[in-house]
Amino acid sequence: MNSAIFRSLSYGVYAVGVKGEENPSACIVNTVFQITSSPKMIAVSMHHNNYSHECILKHGIFTVSILSEDTPGTVIGALGFTSGRDTYKLGNIRHKVLQEGVPVLKENCCCWFLCKVVDRVETPTHTVFIAEAVAGSDKSRGMPMTYEYYQRVVKGTSPRNAPTYESPEEVRDLHDGERFVCNICGYIYRDPDCPFEDLPEDWVCPICGMPKSAFRRKS
Ligand code: FE
Repeated sequence: MNSAIFRSLSYGVYAVGVKGEENPSACIVNTVFQITSSPKMIAVSMHHNNYSHECILKHGIFTVSILSEDTPGTVIGALGFTSGRDTYKLGNIRHKVLQEGVPVLKENCCCWFLCKVVDRVETPTHTVFIAEAVAGSDKSRGMPMTYEYYQRVVKGTSPRNAPTYESPEEVRDLHDGERFVCNICGYIYRDPDCPFEDLPEDWVCPICGMPKSAFRRKS
């Protein structure tokens, strides 16, 4: 079987909010799905290495904010390509903290819900948390961002811990011209009409916000 066929599966883009050691934190996942409507059960897949994984195991609680299509790549970069172990990721992101100590986004968010873990399934790299949604928004607004939209329009990539991660070497070449790869998030810059060297010096990676110096030429 060619594992490339999995690229035809559909996903969304979600911010999972957790209660951290000192501060609330959040990460980006693309795998959230509803299991049953009564009770309101959902499942989330998360890599063992994620700080959020550790927080969910410890506190048994998390939120899901469904990101809208207007979410800038920098918000996804801030939440998805740094670790809550090292940085306070929510510093520049509008959010509120629920009384349970978990955050939800106030901007670029269609709706949110609060989940209590009821079970989990382990795989060698990821845990699938099964949880009941116990509270949430009354309505949803805006268009939810699909993972396909994130890749096609925002031109985003998957971090190494995502179930859908592909190394830059595995990503097919879609355009002519030289390509430059971000060492932090794997974003590939390729624009035959504007060579990398011609980008202004203050240009930053649209996904993780790193400067031009974080990029290397892809042979
Ligand atoms: Fe980057």
